[in-house]
Amino acid sequence: MSRTQVAQSTQAFRLDGRHALVTGGASGIGEATAKELVHAGAFVWIADINLYSAQELAKSIGSSQALHLDVTSPESIHSALSHIGHLDILVNNAGIGHVGSIQQTEPEDFDRLLNVNVRAVYLVTRAFLPLLLATSAAGGLAGTVVNIASVAGLVGIKQRFAYCTTKGAVVAMTRQLAVEYPKTLRVNAICPGTVETPFVEGYLEKFHHNNKEEVRAELRARQPIGRLGRPEEVASMVRYLASDEAAFITGSLFNIDGGWTAA
Ligand code: NAD
Repeated sequence: MSRTQVAQSTQAFRLDGRHALVTGGASGIGEATAKELVHAGAFVWIADINLYSAQELAKSIGSSQALHLDVTSPESIHSALSHIGHLDILVNNAGIGHVGSIQQTEPEDFDRLLNVNVRAVYLVTRAFLPLLLATSAAGGLAGTVVNIASVAGLVGIKQRFAYCTTKGAVVAMTRQLAVEYPKTLRVNAICPGTVETPFVEGYLEKFHHNNKEEVRAELRARQPIGRLGRPEEVASMVRYLASDEAAFITGSLFNIDGGWTAA
């Protein structure tokens, strides 16, 4: 690579002066995303129900502030909004899982998943929409939303009835919003395969305490590349999608799954 090419590549995907909010920003993919966006020059609101972890992260990465936010609560969203005067990038990342077939999914489990993974994306996006639209109204580039969906929104996964349902809805919301606001907002979704985070560790601990390594090997094997993803690998795509280099990209889905959905 020539000296000029290196110089150009270090200038790529910069987010200097941009303000971002990452829901569920205190752990896993959200944490890696907060770090990556700060690294790219953005100021990041680390919004999470786990305020302590959000605060610890904010202290360690700089150019960020922790914010208590329960994405399922309109009051909590309203209170978070009152702190924020400007927003260019919204990352809807907070999400929860559930294990079970339709027969094993009780109505309260189904409602809980819908509430956190779907209704909250609607509530948070709707609340922050005026700020995101103001970005382009002021003559800047369109504000941008990155939704963290999942391969579960694209293909069926055994024992994930409620989870697949909710991530399919995130994919649909992404496309609908992109079509509704084609010139004033960019909306895209990332569909990760299995990524090494506390989310997956929690699942292994809860459901496979006695055969964790066996199940971990199965999780690796269903991704042709033969390993789990790393949160940073998803965060890099968030950064790209939020950047000016992605100005022509809206309504798109990006699978980061080690080949799972290609197989
Ligand atoms: P994680 O459990 O490590 O982190 C989730 C974060 O969301 C936590 O900090 C938690 O406190 C926060 N959170 C939960 N409920 C919240 C609420 N009501 N309000 C605000 N914050 C809340 O999870 P992760 O693995 O980093 O997953 C992040 C997203 O990525 C989720 O939407 C998940 O569905 C998706 N995803 C994860 C994987 C994976 O394999 N880890 C794969 C595909 C998609």
